[in-house]
Amino acid sequence: MNKQTQFHIWYWIAAFFGILMLQYVFVTAQQVAEVPYSDFERYLKEGRIAEVAVSDNYLQGTLKEALPGGQTQFIATRVEPDFAEKLDQYGVRFAGRIESTFLRDILSWIIPAVFFIGIWMFILQRMGAGAGGGLMQIGKSKAKVYVEADTGVDFSDVAGVDEAKDELKEIVDFLRDPDGYGRLGGRMPKGVLLVGPPGTGKTLLAKAVAGEAKVPFFSISGSEFVEMFVGVGAARVRDLFEQARARAPAIIFIDELDAVGRARGIGPFAGGHDEKEQTLNQLLVELDGFDSSSGLVLLAATNRPEILDPALLRAGRFDRQVLVDRPDKKGRIQILEVHLKKAKLGVDVDPEQIAALTPGFTGADLANLVNEATLLATRRGADAVTMEDFNNAVERIVAGLEKRNRLLNPREREIVAYHEMGHALVASLLPGSDPVHKISIIPRGVGALGYTIQRPTEDRFLMTLEELQNKMAVLLGGRAAEWVVYDHLSTGAADDLARVTDIARAIVTRYGMTEKLGHVALDRDRQSFLQQGEAAYGQPQHDYSDETADAIDGEIRRIIDEAFNHAVRLLKAHRELLEKTARALLAKETLDAADLKNLMGESA
Ligand code: ADP
Ligand code: ZN
Repeated sequence: MNKQTQFHIWYWIAAFFGILMLQYVFVTAQQVAEVPYSDFERYLKEGRIAEVAVSDNYLQGTLKEALPGGQTQFIATRVEPDFAEKLDQYGVRFAGRIESTFLRDILSWIIPAVFFIGIWMFILQRMGAGAGGGLMQIGKSKAKVYVEADTGVDFSDVAGVDEAKDELKEIVDFLRDPDGYGRLGGRMPKGVLLVGPPGTGKTLLAKAVAGEAKVPFFSISGSEFVEMFVGVGAARVRDLFEQARARAPAIIFIDELDAVGRARGIGPFAGGHDEKEQTLNQLLVELDGFDSSSGLVLLAATNRPEILDPALLRAGRFDRQVLVDRPDKKGRIQILEVHLKKAKLGVDVDPEQIAALTPGFTGADLANLVNEATLLATRRGADAVTMEDFNNAVERIVAGLEKRNRLLNPREREIVAYHEMGHALVASLLPGSDPVHKISIIPRGVGALGYTIQRPTEDRFLMTLEELQNKMAVLLGGRAAEWVVYDHLSTGAADDLARVTDIARAIVTRYGMTEKLGHVALDRDRQSFLQQGEAAYGQPQHDYSDETADAIDGEIRRIIDEAFNHAVRLLKAHRELLEKTARALLAKETLDAADLKNLMGESA
């Protein structure tokens, strides 16, 4: 509820009271004379009264001729008859008196009424804040679409996400000149999905795109679509696109897309939540309804792309995804430099040192850190923010983040570094493996504590047994490294093991590559993991004997053990290299192909 409405309501309440007062004064001071009861009795005896109406407390009547004041109407308050007689005997002039009921009226109903109006307003207000709209907002959905003609943000405000920026530059070019862009028949993506954990700068990036292209920025949050009334969300989507189309070229940004875009039929509202479904359908309709030459580009952000409805990700919709990941150390230095510009710093403040203290921090965490350090310095009464303030602020924030379980402790980071280096080294040392593209110990997604990306140099359609074995050795390289360095096994390798087991099973049962079982296809066309569950209800999967099943298990075991031992042998032989590269990875957090080549080259 806004100020305007509030003002209106108070205005009505004041007017209401005003009328009430006027009426009170009027009734009493009209052409009605208030006469003492004794006078009434006298008039009665004198026969001057034409008619009279009797109520519990009052007598109200008309006189045959007017009183000296000109009134013919009169009112008298009754007095108990016995008592009146007595007073009359002694010729006393007397009148009844009734307490004013004005105060009682207020207490008995006006105050409760005001009270209830108050409660009602409070509830409306709460609904407005909570549900992103509420009762008062129905049909006024325009109020919830945020429009910024100029976001005032450009790419220089977003640091440490260079890859994402590169991908979005194309969209900036397009928005600057939509017609020129389509001249050669090039087609822009309509929708780009920014994927990454909260606080990594997705909103900031979207704003920067609008700022760079100097186009208006329309934004709305997916969670605001989750309304209490069916149809409101869909109306809002329609509204949003209508407004944006009128001002194209423009950017539409939908934050938290997963709140509306959740796959239909998943989650606690499975099958029943019409509202979300309608909203999602409307969104799809709008997406299909505009072509990119209209100059609209839809950006959306999510940190859970895996739960999105597949319909959203189809070609012609959000068919491009841009990863916005947590920054590595270099990225953190750049982000700190952006935010440190606004603070007054002591000479000892070193962004690199701060970045070293903050592995796992997102851009938002770093912005928060700078703010916190500034506050600490202000509270101290100092005139510049010192390194000490930053150290204290880091401690505070880390404590908060650890509760949310997002940061690894130093020992875990070390283990993850050796694990990932294990994958990378085995891949580099085995001939014919896909080259390592990137190694990182920055947690990604749910469960992955680090990652190693290999990129094939060419498309592959055939693989030999040896190549499959090498691939398994690479996958087991992480666990092998932990085994070599720490002599332990950890849960960090669960995903690797699942993939290795799949490969090993395929070698035995699909590709017929073992001597023991021969060139026999035992499992034809293995179904995907999901379909397998369904199939379990129907036909039996296998048509071989239990002995064969035992033999398959034995062969799988043998193949995996061999691959693991191979990886262990390799890493033991290159133990020094493993140490050196893992240390480098710990320090830099991400290594690319060139870094790895340098490190390996030196020791070779
Ligand atoms: P998201 O949308 O990914 O949750 P935001 O874009 O809302 O994250 O980021 C919140 C704030 O954190 C930003 O306003 C900015 O101050 C800071 N921030 C986040 N990422 C960056 C970055 N890459 N560079 C600079 N500042 C950042
Ligand atoms: Zn691994």
